[in-house]
Amino acid sequence: MLERAPALTEVGAGLQISPNAVRVFEALGLGAALDAVSLRSTGVVLRDSAGRLVSHLHMARHRPEDRFYLTHRARLIDVLAEAARAAGVQVLLGQDATPESVADGLLIGADGVKSVLRPVLNGPETPFFTGQTAWRALISDDDSAAVPQVFMGPGRHLVSYPLKNGLRNIVAVVERPDWLDEGWSQPGDPAELRAAFARFGGPVSGWLSQIDEVSVWGLFRHPVAQHWQDGRRVILGDAAHPTLPFLAQGAVMAIEDAWVLAACLDETPDQAQALSRYQSLRQERCQRIVEAANANARNYHLRGPTRAVAHAGLRAVSKLAPTRLIERFSWLYDFDPTLMRA
Ligand SMILES: Cc1cc2nc3c(=O)[nH]c(=O)nc-3n(C[C@H](O)[C@H](O)[C@H](O)COP(=O)(O)OP(=O)(O)OC[C@H]3O[C@@H](n4cnc5c(N)ncnc54)[C@H](O)[C@@H]3O)c2cc1C
Repeated sequence: MLERAPALTEVGAGLQISPNAVRVFEALGLGAALDAVSLRSTGVVLRDSAGRLVSHLHMARHRPEDRFYLTHRARLIDVLAEAARAAGVQVLLGQDATPESVADGLLIGADGVKSVLRPVLNGPETPFFTGQTAWRALISDDDSAAVPQVFMGPGRHLVSYPLKNGLRNIVAVVERPDWLDEGWSQPGDPAELRAAFARFGGPVSGWLSQIDEVSVWGLFRHPVAQHWQDGRRVILGDAAHPTLPFLAQGAVMAIEDAWVLAACLDETPDQAQALSRYQSLRQERCQRIVEAANANARNYHLRGPTRAVAHAGLRAVSKLAPTRLIERFSWLYDFDPTLMRA
């Protein structure tokens, strides 16, 4: 495995891992390792910008058999890297892969939204700015209620959840018409972040007051790729289908892809057929997830009267038919990649 970065680590942010990816960890024998580095989430709480409850999706109550995890990215990478090495994978750090890195055999491009392999399969494309920027920060916090909270305001929202070892992850998203910086992330100004969320109530100002250092990302993406493979090279994860992070499924989809790709290669002796099967098994689902994340961006950022009506509707449904909201996501969380046969 070739990795451009000099070390296999990512600091400073959390990940939500939903049951559809947890099933892959379990099938790999890594369920206990994932559990050991994660908190088990009990659901999701949606609030308005004043901090008032809009909806509480009690996942643990209504889907008790499922595991939703809150994990530090660096710890998740540790779990995967250790398992890969134990399985005999040679991890070469500080090494750039190119589309010709493998002359014979199979090249898998899991190289993210700026993939070098994707344009070889699809022609040149420039990722577009989604009009959203995200600040990401970690703070210390002893509140152990393991539930992500989403605070929804006009044109912006903030997601926060605790991680193991007294940490709290914060992602704060604001719509912005342009992104002038050449790079995709830049050092942010904590004062600017606090100002952008100054009107938010509940615990938000207390959390933001603790932030000394923050980075801000322009959120870029491509459409879901048309061509994922050419018989000897194949892409997965963000390289194939970058998504807005508002459904917490980007890394989860990459994990689903990886399992299905391996299953296709295992079960179909002809490599070109296996890769073609992999794309046909994955493309529609990934497209649906990307669209659902786009819809969340719109729903979280509503303004004016539409916002009041939507929040009132959500409050009513949560009260009268609490499982209805959770069932809307059955297609997403019930999916078991490990049952997929090539
Ligand atoms: C604010 C935010 C919050 C998010 N929250 C969640 C969440 O809660 N749950 C979730 O599932 N997803 C979440 N995501 C999405 C998730 O981070 C991505 O979808 C996921 O990291 C994609 O994984 P990947 O392996 O495809 O690409 P990446 O994570 O981008 O990894 C690509 C790797 O390839 C390496 N690389 C690149 N080019 C080369 C090259 N030429 N040669 C060698 N190596 C190369 C890079 O160094 C990198 O290590 C979030 C994203 C953001 C921005």
